[in-house]
Amino acid sequence: MLRVTEYASATDTGLARRANEDALLARAPLFVVADGMGGAQAGEVASNAAVRAFEPGLPDAVSPEAGLAAVVTEANREIHAMSREDVHRAGMGTTVTAAHVGEHDVAIAHVGDSRAYRLRDGTFERLTDDHSLVEELRRQGKLTAEEAEVHPQRSIITRALGPEPTIEVDTSSWRARDGDLFLLCSDGLTSMVSEAELNDLVLRDTPTTLEALARRLIAAANAAGGKDNITVVLFRIGEVPAATAGAAPPPADEQATMAGGDAPTAAQVRAAVQDAQAAEVQHAQDAAPRRLAPREPGDPRADIPRRSTLRKLLTVITVLAVVGTPVLVAGYISSQAVYFVGTNDGFVAMYRGLPYELPAGVNLYTVNYTSGVPVAAVPAGRREALLDHSLRSREDAADLVRQLERGELVSPR
Ligand code: MN
Repeated sequence: MLRVTEYASATDTGLARRANEDALLARAPLFVVADGMGGAQAGEVASNAAVRAFEPGLPDAVSPEAGLAAVVTEANREIHAMSREDVHRAGMGTTVTAAHVGEHDVAIAHVGDSRAYRLRDGTFERLTDDHSLVEELRRQGKLTAEEAEVHPQRSIITRALGPEPTIEVDTSSWRARDGDLFLLCSDGLTSMVSEAELNDLVLRDTPTTLEALARRLIAAANAAGGKDNITVVLFRIGEVPAATAGAAPPPADEQATMAGGDAPTAAQVRAAVQDAQAAEVQHAQDAAPRRLAPREPGDPRADIPRRSTLRKLLTVITVLAVVGTPVLVAGYISSQAVYFVGTNDGFVAMYRGLPYELPAGVNLYTVNYTSGVPVAAVPAGRREALLDHSLRSREDAADLVRQLERGELVSPR
């Protein structure tokens, strides 16, 4: 299966603008670039709203392409509503180019004149059509591609999120291959640097890090004048071994513990879960050292949180498992807003549920989100504190993974 193996992003105000109205999200498997427009910070409001719409991830039960389109449609509705509520925001809008990396395909949704490119086998290819005036003229044969690239009105766009209550979203899916490199960028890059030059920059830099390449692209746009905000998001895709059984969090040894007494009621289970959750949230706020050792897939150690609330909860689960209702318990628990951070196939992952497996092979957790951060990228000394399967609120777990993705907790540079 394919995964994001490396990614980097950079955004820059450029040399001519006072504010940066571009926004980006780089959080495998989702990558988004948005370029806002509208006076008095309205552009920033619009581009940030577009990017924020992707933070919860894509809706389940539809294809990634349909999911991306649904998020864009909803973002348009929200931005349009905001523009009507506040006179200072009237007419604000934003482009959006979003990509989702699946196991086999990269899905792209796109509105406006930000762009997606793919570098494969030395060929640099644009994957999106600009929704711009000059692109329309080029399609009608009134401008050549070369004229379009330098046309003074090239920043006038014909489609954006915000101005209209409904939006037409372009979507596409691209079968991915080991080694594919994708670039999402705002027009602050492509209006200053020609595609031929981009091609050279990307090819020349392929052996170095994507972070260096991102900086190089921004520098090239600024060297050419930097007349607009510049944003680039780069991600590389690679083949990783398919999921192996038991690669998720290992079972806890305490599941074998027998507990006496009557089986607890649903209310008691609920109370125990809430206790554990509250204790964990408090724990995170206290920033006290965590006591657990992180576990790699297949690690024979099966340490389990020793906090009394969690022990109580596990005992409750054990009892319920023993009395023969594991599926009900699993269903009940997974409906609770309990999350933890661990590893999945060697990548940092966020799980929903409890780090626990019942004897019948019923897991009390599901993978909520697998990041593009390899466990190996988290220094061994920090894994204990970060990947310890502590119960967290959804926000706390997501925030931790996000910080790891930004490299904030990985290594001081
Ligand atoms: Mn722009």
